[in-house]
Amino acid sequence: TKWVYSFGNGAAEGAANMRNLLGGKGANLAEMSSLGLPVPPGFTITTEVCTWYYEHEKSYPDALTAQVAEALEKVGEATNRKFGDPERPLLVSVRSGARVSMPGMMDTVLNLGLNDQTVEAIAQEAGDRRFAYDSYRRFIQMYSDVVLGLDHHEFEEILEEYKERNELTLDTEIDADAWLGIIEKFKALVEEELEKPFPQDPQEQLWGAIGAVFSSWMVPRAVTYRRLHDLPSSWGTAVNVQAMVFGNMGESSATGVAFTRNPSTGENALYGEFLVNAQGEDVVAGIRTPQDITEKARIGAGSSSPSLEALMPEAFAEFQTYCAKLEAHYRDMQDLEFTIEKGKLWMLQTRSGKRTAKAALKIAVDMVAEGLLGEEEAIGRVEPAALDQLLHPTIDPKAKRDVITTGLPASPGAASGAIVFSSDEAEKAKAEGRKVILVRVETSPEDIHGMHAAEGILTSRGGMTSHAAVVARGMGKPCVAGAGMLRIDYRNGVINAAGRQLKEGDIITIDGATGQVLVGEVEMLQPTLSGDFGTLMGWADKVRRMRVRTNAETPQDAKVAREFGAEGIGLCRTEHMFFEGERIIAVREMILAETEAGRRTALAKLLPMQRQDFTDLFEIMHGLPVTIRLLDPPLHEFLPKSEEELADVAKAMGADPELLRDRALALEEFNPMLGHRGCRLLVSYPEIAEMQARAIFEAAVEAAKVTGAPVVPEIMVPLVGLKGELDLVRQSIEAMAKAVMSETGAELTYQIGTMVELPRAALKAAEIAQSAEFFSFGTNDLTQTTFGISRDDAASFLGTYQTRGLLEQDPFVSLDQEGVGELIKIGVERGRSTRPDIKLGICGEHGGDPASISFCEGVGLDYVSCSPFRVPIARLAAAQAAL
Ligand code: ADP
Ligand code: MG
Ligand code: MG
Repeated sequence: TKWVYSFGNGAAEGAANMRNLLGGKGANLAEMSSLGLPVPPGFTITTEVCTWYYEHEKSYPDALTAQVAEALEKVGEATNRKFGDPERPLLVSVRSGARVSMPGMMDTVLNLGLNDQTVEAIAQEAGDRRFAYDSYRRFIQMYSDVVLGLDHHEFEEILEEYKERNELTLDTEIDADAWLGIIEKFKALVEEELEKPFPQDPQEQLWGAIGAVFSSWMVPRAVTYRRLHDLPSSWGTAVNVQAMVFGNMGESSATGVAFTRNPSTGENALYGEFLVNAQGEDVVAGIRTPQDITEKARIGAGSSSPSLEALMPEAFAEFQTYCAKLEAHYRDMQDLEFTIEKGKLWMLQTRSGKRTAKAALKIAVDMVAEGLLGEEEAIGRVEPAALDQLLHPTIDPKAKRDVITTGLPASPGAASGAIVFSSDEAEKAKAEGRKVILVRVETSPEDIHGMHAAEGILTSRGGMTSHAAVVARGMGKPCVAGAGMLRIDYRNGVINAAGRQLKEGDIITIDGATGQVLVGEVEMLQPTLSGDFGTLMGWADKVRRMRVRTNAETPQDAKVAREFGAEGIGLCRTEHMFFEGERIIAVREMILAETEAGRRTALAKLLPMQRQDFTDLFEIMHGLPVTIRLLDPPLHEFLPKSEEELADVAKAMGADPELLRDRALALEEFNPMLGHRGCRLLVSYPEIAEMQARAIFEAAVEAAKVTGAPVVPEIMVPLVGLKGELDLVRQSIEAMAKAVMSETGAELTYQIGTMVELPRAALKAAEIAQSAEFFSFGTNDLTQTTFGISRDDAASFLGTYQTRGLLEQDPFVSLDQEGVGELIKIGVERGRSTRPDIKLGICGEHGGDPASISFCEGVGLDYVSCSPFRVPIARLAAAQAAL
């Protein structure tokens, strides 16, 4: 078996399409090398070795040693060096790389192959002792951290202490002899901790690092990450071993990262950051604030540190040509890593760049205009769930801005909240319903939960590619990073900037569009959805088959949903209207009445209000379909909770408060979710359905007069399990339709259907469909009743189910396709068997979840219905599902 694939010198054994075998990094290094880009030679140990390793008690296949030795030999030939050679030593980096980039995996080890002897050869050859010792101390620290498992803080402490004692701030100010002293301290630390010296044998170093990469595949952090992202552990990771090039060889050397287009805005302009005389992770570590690559970006940022374009124009120009070449080749925006060694450019990584939703849209639309992509491909380039980011508010341009400081505009959107300084605090505040901004010097993977909980993130250190910036963009949270003038004092719980002080709990606003940090809460504007958004949505609407409706009952929600492109209302929950203002008193009167006559008196008070609600909705929807669900929740939910409320109702009814209290107690149920609710109420009290039907029909007549568009109401009966239930309610509705037609002289068309939300309804769908012109799968209740899990009580155990791997996802968020989905399939098939043209939709939370939408396309539903803010997501997801 071939376990090792070489690359370098304009050729490669691997290619981009071998990502599964070589990992993303290895496959793209091979591809770049074949494209003729300057890639330091190296080789990739395949993911199959990782699999083998775990299947064979952490050992390697026999042939591996020889294949590695041979590949290493080749790298030596290409660089005119030899691994471990005391005269011309080859130094390498060891880099992990799975199919998809995965935090939690082993960090890269640079400068491997250095020891007390080879470091001198390097020093002599470069004529630069500072450079050689700088590389060696980095190597000892990295290797000790990621391979030997020693805490990197202890090394940093030694370094910090030295700098403090000598009043230095930057690592670059430390000279050769000083580094030598620090190296001795590092080595002593290792020996003290491990009771053996730092490994001097390059072979031992190499295999140590390879083993560390494979071992890191199973560390808890990586395992958790894979579980959260639904990635199989059978994939394994590859290991890349590559000749070192040095960005830390003085002032004509540098290292950097870049995006071929702006990852925040999508603007078609090279965007990136670099540091002179630096190596590896220095740029993203946030220790020194990096410089802009292009002049344009530098001027835009008002920075005085020179750009790469100005400092090293030749390397810059060459880099630009590679950016163009790679973009055209991969037909996507690329995220690149490079190093310049004494003026010579080397490419170290390329991959499709992460981007904000705004950037994803712009890039997709631009690339169609540039002829790089077709419309249908462009639709697939935008993650539907990410559209959520575009629906974020921005600061009203007319609002007064009290700017305390400015950082980098790292992730778009604006947010206000109280200052907190730790992720645990942020999480606590969120649980208590408080909005906070997480303020940190910098963030690390340990802060993910706090970043999730916060409205936005503010850091004082780090660039556009720092941890905080990258993670915030991924989450769609506003972020201002690297606000360098901000002094954060964790101990005293205060921040200082521009001579002003704010303390923990004070409200600030961050503006991810400008990087500004403002005092207090600021007026926000809701987003408008035009431009690229409109263009891409237009393409999506052309290819999607399913209609997208919204769940809405208020005029406000209905309007928003129409702006977002909703093509009707899939679920109008009438009971929400019952709580508005004074109505609740009439509702309670109706519930507490002991006789039908009493109920009818109360219902008569509700009728004009319901009619008005429906008229408004029908007018807003202007002829688009509207599905109205008759009263669903158990009556107990509407009852007075306090003595005072009880007294109000008693007064309105002219009744005795004592008797009312007894009646309220009598209505209490042990298990209201499975109690007297849904169509069961309508069976017991047909007058409720009559009133609601009358309100709907009279409103339909009204609205049609106003808009001139005929209204075809769809009346939905909830919680049906027996065909007989639906038949009974249908009779009252039909009778009412006749009555309203003869009273008004208007013709009415309407449909009666049911919500399929009980397993029995799905199973008996053939029979029920004889009475139902449409089914709407109410997947919230259907999930509850299929699992027998109450959604409102699930929080206490569903989390454990997920972490223990019993459930991959919360079934109330993403449809349980195997179980609940099977019932839906059965319902669809059997419903169509007796009524081939039955209209089918879904109206649970799942109607806005892309994976569930894809399932709905698969079973051939006619529409999905979701909350107004998810309508754009559903439109795009439905298009992707149709492609
Ligand atoms: P990550 O997956 O965390 O980005 P990488 O393997 O890409 O880790 O390594 C991180 C950084 O280390 C690179 O961006 C590059 O700057 C540096 N690096 C890796 N290999 C080499 C090398 N052979 N020569 C010089 N620098 C390297
Ligand atoms: Mg990298
Ligand atoms: Mg329901």
